[in-house]
Amino acid sequence: MAQLIDGKKIAENLQQETAAQVAELAAKNIHPGLVVLLVGENPASQIYVRNKERTAKKIGIHSEVKRYPETITEAELIAEIDYFNKADEFHGILVQLPLPAHINEEKVLLAINPLKDVDGFHPMNMGRLFAGMPHTIPCTPYGIMKMFEVHEIPLAGKQAVVIGRSNIVGKPMAILLLEADATVTLTHSKTEDLANVASKADILVVAIGKGHFVTKEFIKPGAVVIDVGMNRNEEGKLIGDVKFDEVEPIAGYITPVPGGVGPMTITMLMQQTVECCKRQVLEHK
Ligand code: NAP
Repeated sequence: MAQLIDGKKIAENLQQETAAQVAELAAKNIHPGLVVLLVGENPASQIYVRNKERTAKKIGIHSEVKRYPETITEAELIAEIDYFNKADEFHGILVQLPLPAHINEEKVLLAINPLKDVDGFHPMNMGRLFAGMPHTIPCTPYGIMKMFEVHEIPLAGKQAVVIGRSNIVGKPMAILLLEADATVTLTHSKTEDLANVASKADILVVAIGKGHFVTKEFIKPGAVVIDVGMNRNEEGKLIGDVKFDEVEPIAGYITPVPGGVGPMTITMLMQQTVECCKRQVLEHK
């Protein structure tokens, strides 16, 4: 039976550490600030933003949500970003994705000051990560690396397989594992014989967005299985990309859904807001 990686608990501990840092900064009259820009009424985005607000408040980070109608133009949104790029009270800027179809996501991401890009999605920060000079790091893979750290899971020399190659999860995950000296295979929808490739993995990270896609055939006995997926089944229940009941008896470690990767993502967002604040205020960059 696998050991459970309790993301909720790890996240709570990390949030306490971040709250202590915030309190230390407050004693110096420095107050980390995060602004979240939310366009339209996407129900999932509303939930994510509410969770971010709640967590920021708990940690003591000053956070504001700016809501814009679905009809806002690209130029208007970029002008808003530009305003927050210059606003000293905000050290982190997050534009909640997805954006309405008439707004070019790429242009919007490029408009964010990379020093305030707490999501780590700006190409400058992606490039820095790729070059081994990270500034901010996409929060989901960053949170997964923290889980490995907390459980002292060795990565050096291990076979790591990542399923899914999105810019926000799969690609940066592969780079982080590579930086930690794992031997990395990055797979996707065109990968042939995926179950066979996955079954060689000591570390398997799954981020595809297909409920219960990964079955026991994908798993090497004793493997560390990280499930990033968040899907709704027919009953509306939140399920992962991994068929937990089938995989758990074989794996060495496994993350649950919910209560696994999700709480880590939001925690790393808060931590990066504090890190950005420290750099901007204490190091003037
Ligand atoms: P995405 O942008 O849709 O990317 C999905 C990736 O999975 C693509 O690279 C795609 O391959 C690959 N894929 C799709 N079907 C596949 C298949 N049958 N076999 C192999 N690969 C397949 O998704 P994402 O944004 O990375 O998110 C993935 C999942 O993680 C979603 O459920 C999302 O909700 C969840 N998520 C959770 C968190 C969290 O904090 N817990 C954060 C972010 C995302 P191609 O490139 O070839 O199309």
